[in-house]
Amino acid sequence: MVEIKTDASMDAMREAGRVVAQALTAVREAATVGTSLRELDRTARTVLDKAGAGSPFLGYHPDWAPVPFPGVLCVSVNDAIVHGIPDGRRLADGDLVSVDCGALLDGWAGDAALSFTVGRARPADTRLVRTAEAALAAGIEAAVVGNRVGDIAHAIGRVCRDAGYGIPDGFGGHGIGRRMHEDPGVPNEGPPGRGMRLRHGMVLAIEPMVLAGGKDDWWTAGDGWTMRTGDGSRAAHAEHTVAVTDDGPRILTLL
Ligand code: MG
Ligand code: MG
Repeated sequence: MVEIKTDASMDAMREAGRVVAQALTAVREAATVGTSLRELDRTARTVLDKAGAGSPFLGYHPDWAPVPFPGVLCVSVNDAIVHGIPDGRRLADGDLVSVDCGALLDGWAGDAALSFTVGRARPADTRLVRTAEAALAAGIEAAVVGNRVGDIAHAIGRVCRDAGYGIPDGFGGHGIGRRMHEDPGVPNEGPPGRGMRLRHGMVLAIEPMVLAGGKDDWWTAGDGWTMRTGDGSRAAHAEHTVAVTDDGPRILTLL
């Protein structure tokens, strides 16, 4: 069931989203060659703590995962697509890093992700990251009253495929509100004009993922969480929490 939010609820979600943006900005600033993924998680925790926010990631335990998620931040490096565990690994020159963070504030959730390179960037990685960002922008642009969920999916998918990239099977965005994952699902590819009609007060986490090798398959690493590209190519991820409003899409996870 899709929960339609009141204007006051969307304002409250904006505050949760702002905390997510602050955490991601701090993480990006802290991420340099030699920084460990665990240090990045600590950076995000400090921001959440200061804001009095909780984490929807920490302790999250879906039925497919062997253990609860141990961090407030997913850090997915190079061929990791999403759900990377922030462990003791240290970032190396040229790494492509995707960070995904959530916050819970006054009972409302926010969820966003961004990708960037550390040290000397490979041109191919820069193009991959820009495409994930362009796909996110296209998806947000389609998140308008009267469109359907399929229009968002179609807009995202077209940007990714036109660039020649893969889109991981079975992953996509989601409704968000008091819980991090709500209805409806927001696929990253599909035919336009299908699915639920968008209304004022729907809040969606829109999150394209692109795989440099052009294929869509992935596998789960031995930690039970990290999703890696099937061909070992690199991946990028970008996400915002977006409210559909009569005045157009309102991005709740901007700084
Ligand atoms: Mg996320
Ligand atoms: Mg999400």
